[in-house]
Amino acid sequence: MSLEPEMMRSLVKAAAEHVIASAAELTALDQAIGDGDHGANMKRGFEAVLGKLDAIAALPPGEALKTIGKTLVMTVGGASGPLYGSFFLAAGDALSNKQLPADLADIFGSGVSAVSARGRSKAGEKTMLDVLFPVLATLQSEAIGPELIARVRTTAHEAAARTAPMQATKGRASYLGARSIGHVDPGARSSCVLVHAVCDTLEARS
Ligand code: ADP
Ligand code: MG
Repeated sequence: MSLEPEMMRSLVKAAAEHVIASAAELTALDQAIGDGDHGANMKRGFEAVLGKLDAIAALPPGEALKTIGKTLVMTVGGASGPLYGSFFLAAGDALSNKQLPADLADIFGSGVSAVSARGRSKAGEKTMLDVLFPVLATLQSEAIGPELIARVRTTAHEAAARTAPMQATKGRASYLGARSIGHVDPGARSSCVLVHAVCDTLEARS
């Protein structure tokens, strides 16, 4: 796997288009346990990313991820904007100093750690981290190849579903206490959508 401009362009385009196509679903999830803005927040952010697609693809890969991060911080808003922004800023920083594909888990892990630090959050609190940590664990568990892509896809899907029975203890959903139980977390779902977009693109190219 290499991150030449054309590959970066395909990955970013797929991620943005998948998120934009999922806006209604993300809104519905956030209406159940939040304030209903997660779909609109993410759509606005990734439309801004799509608007910069050519410029992003032309950058060195680490700088490309950092530009995505800055764009999301500026446009997404809510709790998720700074959190996704932190992910891409930290992953971009890591990517600038590391090698793909060997260091993929390290690079992804830098992003996950940044979300956790920024959100003062950890696994089990019914947030996007309940998808990001399991995906990281899968990335750490085996070498990169077609089987890993399939496992990452399943991990993300199952991890998002597993947020439904959790009670939220971070973010807006935590205000609901036990009433947050029984719904998939919107940020967990958007993380799954992003991960699946990357898996689809890599599978189509391999
Ligand atoms: P807001 O909650 O401000 O309306 P969004 O609706 O855009 O923002 O995003 C909500 C999502 O953000 C949640 O579903 C959850 O996954 C994520 N989130 C909120 N707070 C945290 C946190 N402290 N750490 C990690 N993720 C969080
Ligand atoms: Mg919200």
